[in-house]
Amino acid sequence: MTTVFHRAPKRALPVAVAGDGIEIIDSEGKRYIDASGGAAVSCLGHSNQRVIDAIKRQAQQLPYAHTSFFTTEPAEALADWLVERAPEGLRHVYFVSGGSEAVEAALKLARQYFVETGEPRRRHFIARRQSYHGNTLGALAIGGNAWRREPFLPILIEAHHVSPCYAYREQRSDESDEAFTQRLADELESKILDLGPETVAAFVAETVVGATAGAVPPVGDYLCKIRAVCDKYGVLLILDEIMSGMGRTGHLYACAEDGVAPDLLTIAKGLGAGYQPIGATLVSDRIYEAIVKGSGFFQHGHTYIGHATACAAALEVQRVIEEDRLLDNVKARGEQLRASLREHYSRHEHIGDVRGRGLFVGVELVEDRATKVPFSHELAVNVAIKREAMKRGLMVYPMGGTVDGVSGDHVLLAPPFICTADDIDRIVSRLTDAIDDALRSAGSR
Ligand code: PMP
Repeated sequence: MTTVFHRAPKRALPVAVAGDGIEIIDSEGKRYIDASGGAAVSCLGHSNQRVIDAIKRQAQQLPYAHTSFFTTEPAEALADWLVERAPEGLRHVYFVSGGSEAVEAALKLARQYFVETGEPRRRHFIARRQSYHGNTLGALAIGGNAWRREPFLPILIEAHHVSPCYAYREQRSDESDEAFTQRLADELESKILDLGPETVAAFVAETVVGATAGAVPPVGDYLCKIRAVCDKYGVLLILDEIMSGMGRTGHLYACAEDGVAPDLLTIAKGLGAGYQPIGATLVSDRIYEAIVKGSGFFQHGHTYIGHATACAAALEVQRVIEEDRLLDNVKARGEQLRASLREHYSRHEHIGDVRGRGLFVGVELVEDRATKVPFSHELAVNVAIKREAMKRGLMVYPMGGTVDGVSGDHVLLAPPFICTADDIDRIVSRLTDAIDDALRSAGSR
């Protein structure tokens, strides 16, 4: 038993001691292909020398300076880099240390914006069912995963939920993409009207859904329609790209592919690629100006915001991605991965769906492919897949279906952007073996 308290205290974990490209090596010398980038974090693999050198340089020069006294060169340079490439209007950056902090900052920025602009009644947040936006209290409150929130409900702020844009489960078989996205936009509009538009602060959604459903991209013009509904009622749009952003989908910002610019955009994971803990909230001019003209400061802050070494690492990560044209590889390898999985699973009775964008790919497992009925929660198919994959030296990110049976077990794949065609073949081969064995052991229980 180790002294460090991770997630499940009783579970013995291998000890990771080294990184080599897309692989992690444990204390026994066993290698694991990181096909999930941890949790869609490690987009440059685990031994990028340029990033390591950038961290060393910054640590030697100035590791950290508190932001109530100074800004720093790496923080300014990283903010410029992000803003120059950001969706229209997002020209200000608030750095934090991770995803949940980025969401907390976005929620508080939205709220403070309305306080500053004379609409203090706007306090409601609307998000989607089966969503995850982080584990701190505000982020947890808006998330739509009932089981995650359950123990903490009495201490959470009130939040409201609408249907997710989850084609495999929510789109009716006779419903066109247009009709489906219109139905979802209408549902959001009804929710805003029910709450009273003058009381609604923001709608929060992931551009491409990550952990809760496994790489679910928006259908057609869903995000444009959602943007229009928000605009009609003066509601802010917060897009969470903590998993799907920073190139994971083949675009630096996932929403660029949908032609939509939110008012607030959260990023983390791939921003620092795991070399340093860092996240950010990108802020529109409108919100920034309102705060500058109003009280003059954002009533929020953490000790490590704008951490110089973290910013230097993230800037180097982003330079490597751009200079090595890695987003082209993300698109090509993503196509290969989906095509290979679809081919392999074209007739598999327990694979319901293979989906995603770029190197952000989800596989949904079901008890019955025809009816889409999920496996029973008790079978813990996702746990078995993870165990079988780790045995074979493969890291993937499986999640259970919802307890209420609304979605099936799924596996999320998010390999590093540097992976080759051969790496994809190895991932598919190990994953399909792991899934077969996991289903066999789950079936025999
Ligand atoms: N939002 C999304 C979409 C995420 O996937 C996550 C992390 N899985 C978070 C927020 C929270 O990020 P963190 O774990 O860094 O706090």
